[in-house]
Order: sequence, then C-alpha cells, then structure tokens
Amino acid sequence: KNHQKGDPKTPLEPHVLIFPIPIQGPVNCFLKLAELLCLSGIYVTFLNTDHIHRPLLRHTNILSRFNRYPNFRFETIPDGVNFENPVSAANIKEVLEGANIVSKPIFREMMISGRLSKRSERPVTAMILDAFFGFAVEVGLETSTPVFCFQTISPCCSWTSFFNLPTLIEAGEVPFREEDMDKLVENVPGTQHLLRKRDLAGFCRLDDMSNGEVQRVLKEALLTPRTQGLIVNTFEELDALVLPYMRKLCPNIYPIGPLHSLHKVRILANTTQPQNISSNSVWKEDCTCLSWLDKHPPKTVVYVSIGSLAMMKFEQLLEIWYGLVNSGKPFLWVRRPGSISDGYDESHVPSELLDHTKEMGCIVDWAPQEDVLAHQAVGAFMTHSGWNSTMESIAVGVPMICWPYFYDQQVISRFVGEVWKVGVDIKDTCDRLIVEKAIRDMMDKNRDIFTQSAILWENLAKESISEAGSSSKSLARLVADIISLSS
Ligand code: UDP
Repeated sequence: KNHQKGDPKTPLEPHVLIFPIPIQGPVNCFLKLAELLCLSGIYVTFLNTDHIHRPLLRHTNILSRFNRYPNFRFETIPDGVNFENPVSAANIKEVLEGANIVSKPIFREMMISGRLSKRSERPVTAMILDAFFGFAVEVGLETSTPVFCFQTISPCCSWTSFFNLPTLIEAGEVPFREEDMDKLVENVPGTQHLLRKRDLAGFCRLDDMSNGEVQRVLKEALLTPRTQGLIVNTFEELDALVLPYMRKLCPNIYPIGPLHSLHKVRILANTTQPQNISSNSVWKEDCTCLSWLDKHPPKTVVYVSIGSLAMMKFEQLLEIWYGLVNSGKPFLWVRRPGSISDGYDESHVPSELLDHTKEMGCIVDWAPQEDVLAHQAVGAFMTHSGWNSTMESIAVGVPMICWPYFYDQQVISRFVGEVWKVGVDIKDTCDRLIVEKAIRDMMDKNRDIFTQSAILWENLAKESISEAGSSSKSLARLVADIISLSS
C-alpha cells in the first residue's frame, strides 16, 4: 500500500503524472483528459517538453483555463529542440529524437531518484504516458508506480499496424513494394478481405521504412500490454471490429471517445463560462470563416483541411483546387502557412481558379474546426484523415473525402470508406476529376446514403458520451482505478 510520506497511516491522495509527446494533436488530447481527471478530484501534474510548452503558453489561454483547478500544475522538461513549434511533418522526427535523447535521462532521474515521483509534497501515484514515448513507458514500468498508456492514434491503426506488425513482418507482408500495394493483407485477424497493403500504416511502405519508426512501433507493441491499461479515443461501437482483438493483448482498455465531445459536455456542466472551452491549438483561429459559412444554405459547403502536420505539393494543391472549383460547390479551405512543401506562388495559379475562389471560396490559415464541422452549412469534409479530425467529423455527422497523408491516416481512411461507410477514400491519387467526382457523389448523387450512415454514427457517438454511455462508463472506471491504485 502507498502512504503519505511521514505518515504511514494516511493513504496517498491520487496524483497522476501525465506526459504526452510534444506534438499539438496528442498534447491537446492529453490536456482534455487531464481536465476530466481534475474535475473528478484527481491531482494532476502535466509534464510538457519545453518545445511544445513555450508556444502553448504564448498562443493559448491555457494558463487561465487551468488556473481554476487547484489540483492541476504544469511541469516542463528540456528536450534540446531549439526551433519553435508548430512543427510540420518535415521536422517531427527531430522533435521526437530530441525528447528521446535529451528528455529521457532527465525523466528517468525525475521518476527513479525522485524529484517528481517521491520527494514532491504529493507523490505520484499513477502515470498516464503517451504509448508513443517508449522511453517514458520503460521508465514508468521500472518504478513501482502504476502506468496507464494513452494511444491518441486510431485503434484501427493500432490493431492492424502496431500490434500485428511483428506477425506482418514475419509473414513477409511488410515491408511491401509499390507493385504490391493492392494485394490483400492476410495476417491481421478480424480484417479479412478488408485491407490492401496500401491501407496499412504509412511506415509499412518500403520507402518509409528507413526512418526508424518500425523499431519504435515494435517496442510500443511489446511495452503497451505490460501496463495497467490502455486509454483510447474511440467509442465501443465505432471500433467494435478491432477492440475485441486488442483486448486479447491488453485486457484493460478504456475507450473514452469522442474525447472532445465528452470533454465539452463535462466542462459545460461544470462552468458558468462556456467561452472557456477554447481550443488548445497553437495556431491562431480565424473565426471570420464562421460568418462566411452563415451565408450558405445547409449542407452545401465543402470544408477542406489537412491538419497540423500534413503537407502537399503545389501541383497537388492545383489538382484539389480544380476539383473543388469544377464541383461547383462553395468551399472553405484551411491553408496552414508552410504546408505547401515546394512553396506557394500565386503567379503560377491560373486566374480562373483565383476568380472562381473570390466568388465561391473562403481560404483561411487556420479555422476553429470543431465549430466549422458543427456548422449546418458544411456538407462534406475533405480531410487528411487525422484521427482527431475524423472523430470530430463523425461526432457531428459530416461525411468525409479522405486524402490521407501519412501514418495512421492510411488505415483510418480505409475504415471510413469500407467499415464505417461514412466517406470515400481517395488515397494515393491526386486528380481533379477524382476530387470533383467524390464531392458530387457525396453531396448530390449519393447524398442520402452518406447522410444516413453519418447520422447513425453521430447518434452512437452522442449515446456513448451520455451519462449511461460506454465512454462515460470507461472514464468513470479509469478514475475509480486510479483512485483505488493510489490507496
Ligand atoms: N484543427 C483546427 N483548425 C484547423 C485545422 C485543424 O483546429 O484549421 C484541429 C482539428 O480540430 C484537430 C487537429 O487540429 O483537432 C488536427 O488533428 P488531427 O489528428 O486530425 O491531425 P494532425 O494535425 O495531428 O495531423
């Protein structure tokens, strides 16, 4: 049993150390989970690497949000990364390597010799670590403190391309070459005839395998089942295909999604200032696009965004642009600065695109995405299939045109198209005709079919976060487990 220092009789107060990888998307998810735990009375120390903490403080009102919780505090840890977030896919590796090299020994010292874990006034009684951070999980497991992992990526990727990676490699299915992209994957239980090799996580492709990600994933697949439990951002019904298989390896799974919705209802129920639910995004949101959306009838606008890391080439930008313009639908397009890998040069954009966009389009650097997707004018979401974007879209019943960029997005887009049937997957193509056709199919020809399944998932998502819903119950179980492991 754990007891307060100096007083062997008093049980410890539950105190969770939370440590996400220093990338916007995961940090955002971890902050939401942290706030939910604070609301349950658990003491939370949120550990950020310097790289993500500085811009988070500078660009968000995060401190004033969390100041109202006496049971919350931030701690930081150096990572040796000397450029400013936001990162893009181009420098993500450097950020993670920084953490792996610089933060690792410091974290180890913090936890094992004890600055954070034992000597603080309130010892850490449990850790919630990013499953991605193998070194942190290893350190956690070395201590006697219970460790929970949070995987902010999609469970469909986690099952198909993480937990099954050793089998896929052994069976010779991974890595695979360009010419094998359309061969069916045979060694992922539960997914017969569903996945082509191109639908496995991006790092399984031969071209992508050199970046060390495979070794990291293999380590994660071994470490995660050794922890106390695995937290995932999904709901039971949505991942009914993969969760039973994942439970064979990690019996204790807590599906608490859609996390952003669960977070929102809980905060609203606990605050008199709803404006406080602002996002944790380090990009400044341009809210003028909401009044632009107000001018459009229901379900007429295509919303386009590739999230915080993905990039596209100028040539691809033009194909998508033509596809949008030729579809004849108005569009709201987020063009994150720096997201065109070979640079954006307006003098090379055909004037017909620019003229049409003045009439039919709205382009912003960064949008308040949850509000945009919830806006009645939005009828389709052309997305890079990031897991957060996908959950945000599913939660409000917006069908998706999936143009995945990397990592779990290749798997998610397949599940969107073939399992949840709430969109179309146009991966590995970038052609104006395909984009135009996908938009017309979704918004005109097959509109009823897409609307039907989008509403089905929206309702199931809402049910899961209702008081008696599966995600609410999972969260309550997580809280109860953290408390009982502390006493
Ligand atoms: N997002 C946003 N405004 C934008 C584009 C994206 O707030 O203009 C948010 C979006 O709501 C989501 C996150 O950025 O929560 C993107 O996360 P996702 O997992 O979809 O992709 P990633 O950026 O990690 O590739």
